[in-house]
Amino acid sequence: MSDCIFCKIAAKQIPTQVVYEDTDVLAFKDINPKAPTHLLVIPKKHIEKLSDLQPADAELGGKMLLAVGKIAEHIGIKDAGFRVVINNGKFAGQEVFHLHFHVLGGKQMSWNPA
Ligand code: AMP
Ligand code: ZN
Repeated sequence: MSDCIFCKIAAKQIPTQVVYEDTDVLAFKDINPKAPTHLLVIPKKHIEKLSDLQPADAELGGKMLLAVGKIAEHIGIKDAGFRVVINNGKFAGQEVFHLHFHVLGGKQMSWNPA
């Protein structure tokens, strides 16, 4: 996707603060953090949103979830706890249509929509 900002970040065409990378997954700092720690975990491959994941993406989805735990341990937010948010589509407030997990930590979360 030539006009997708997260594809450009994955391709290193736009600089960002990378905190984790493997062959399929990238994690970087959110440009407008809503918590002391606010990271975005993305697949390098363009997938618009969570509900577009296909059975063939099962391994990729698992790698993204495993990356969250590895990152949380590495940056020291695992024991205190953290929140993972996925906005899927318009009603959820998704603004960037390239799948991403928000990883929020470093403070007590005060709002629990679930
Ligand atoms: P969402 O509303 O779930 O689509 O979240 C999109 C997120 O992407 C927001 O938290 C933005 O602050 C973040 N964002 C947008 N552009 C960039 C960028 N160039 N680098 C890092 N984060 C970004
Ligand atoms: Zn993309």
